[in-house]
Amino acid sequence: MKVRIDYSLCMGDQNCHKVCPEVFDFDEDQLQSRVRVDTVPAHLEDEVRQAAKDCAPGAIIVEA
Ligand code: SF4
Repeated sequence: MKVRIDYSLCMGDQNCHKVCPEVFDFDEDQLQSRVRVDTVPAHLEDEVRQAAKDCAPGAIIVEA
């Protein structure tokens, strides 16, 4: 599974980072979250889906 962030939508509330810090990092300079991994490890897929669901502006895009 792959995941990416639409930076035109990310409002930098760090919610994804709180839900799954292993996958979502926070860029203090840009005040937006960043994806830390190329491929989401299988054991973190549910957390990433949850983070995407919880992302208010819908900036997290999950790709199978
Ligand atoms: S939850 Fe969504 S809006 Fe919030 S920091 Fe993460 S990608 Fe950005």
